[in-house]
Amino acid sequence: MLAQSKTENLGTKIDWAAIETEAANLLSRYLQFDTTNPPGNEIAAIEFLAEILHERGLTPQIIETAPGRANLIARLPALPRAAAPPCLLYAHADVVPADSSDWSVSPFSGQIKDGFVWGRGALDDKGLGIVFLQALTVLRNCAAPLKRDIILLIAADEETCGRYGAAWLLDHHPDLIQAEYVWDEGGMGLKQSARGQYIYSIAVAEKGALTVRLTAHGAPGHASIPNGNNASDRLVRALARLAEWHRPIHLTQPVIEMLASLAPSQAFPRSLLFAHARNKLTWPFLFPLLDKDMLFAPLIRNTVSLTMLRSGQKSNIIPAQAEAKLDIRLLPGEDPAAVLGDIRAIIKDMRVSVEAEEMPVAHSPSDSATDFFRTLADTLLTLGPPGLVTPYLTPGATDSRFFRRAGMKAYGFMPMLLDNQELSRIHGIDERISTANLRFGIQVVFETLRKL
Ligand SMILES: [Zn+2]
Repeated sequence: MLAQSKTENLGTKIDWAAIETEAANLLSRYLQFDTTNPPGNEIAAIEFLAEILHERGLTPQIIETAPGRANLIARLPALPRAAAPPCLLYAHADVVPADSSDWSVSPFSGQIKDGFVWGRGALDDKGLGIVFLQALTVLRNCAAPLKRDIILLIAADEETCGRYGAAWLLDHHPDLIQAEYVWDEGGMGLKQSARGQYIYSIAVAEKGALTVRLTAHGAPGHASIPNGNNASDRLVRALARLAEWHRPIHLTQPVIEMLASLAPSQAFPRSLLFAHARNKLTWPFLFPLLDKDMLFAPLIRNTVSLTMLRSGQKSNIIPAQAEAKLDIRLLPGEDPAAVLGDIRAIIKDMRVSVEAEEMPVAHSPSDSATDFFRTLADTLLTLGPPGLVTPYLTPGATDSRFFRRAGMKAYGFMPMLLDNQELSRIHGIDERISTANLRFGIQVVFETLRKL
């Protein structure tokens, strides 16, 4: 009983204002390391974080995977002893490019102004890394009883393919990061403009990325004498057929759970249809609604985006070859080989080759009925503004796919409160995070981990 009340009081003795200021200053310095990937070059940023952890009495380990590419691992042992497997806190250190001419501040200046820390990576994903680091420090400093070891992993190379980061570590040093639960990026607390309440979406699954190259072959010649075998014409016909491809709607388990969680926040008849999404009788009414919804449309079928086209060298030469690239995102459980077969069947042209340039990583969704999910959900509803918690299927890829492939339960949630405008700055212009969000994030991580 005594131990219990001691833990309950931990949260009140902590100087959160000081921790928030410290987090903002740390993040500002962290953002000043240009870790644009490619080439990434994360090592100086990783050494900076390792030094901070050293000063705080932790013993971080740096693992280099290639020249300039590095990962940081630190472990806070369970207290008094481990009674459950570890929990891994994961954030990547690399960022996507930023064109400074579009920004109102320099993207690598780490400026603090108007209550925000500005810079590429402020939200995705350096902000999350600092939130994890601060929460770990608070847990250590107040000697919070912990049932599990907490492992912090700050890795390289998420924005391309994980080859020098998470995927490499799971292949070469799985023992160092083996955990029951992984806390990654993915969902967040997003303000609903209509009702002012928040949707806390915790990612339990993601779509698989399949990149396909189409190459049409024809006969070259002078453009003044059309030969009827123009590779570009052939490619255009193939793409026109694909543009008409009707891909069926398929409700996966994470989406059914998501609809059920969101049902209470919807007006009739959406509330009824969402709550009974499993029932086929609702589908003729539900599917058109989902199809028109920006959030759900990409989550209910495989999507195909034509992203690259290449053909020809001169306007008066008929090219021998024309190439297109498709970015295809598959629902969980889809077989990429079957999708490639569908594409060939739709194109119906032997002189257009269809090859997979990148195959999705096979993995299973993480269960939402776990201690981790419940504890995080409870913490959000206690500490955050009124809202709903929902499992979430992310349309884009994260490193969670590698952890899930290795059998760990990975959950994607950036513990921040955003609206659509702040959200659009991720991979966009003027990315920033409020210092209030840094504090909120640290408190959510701290409370969740000590209850876990
Ligand atoms: Zn990210």
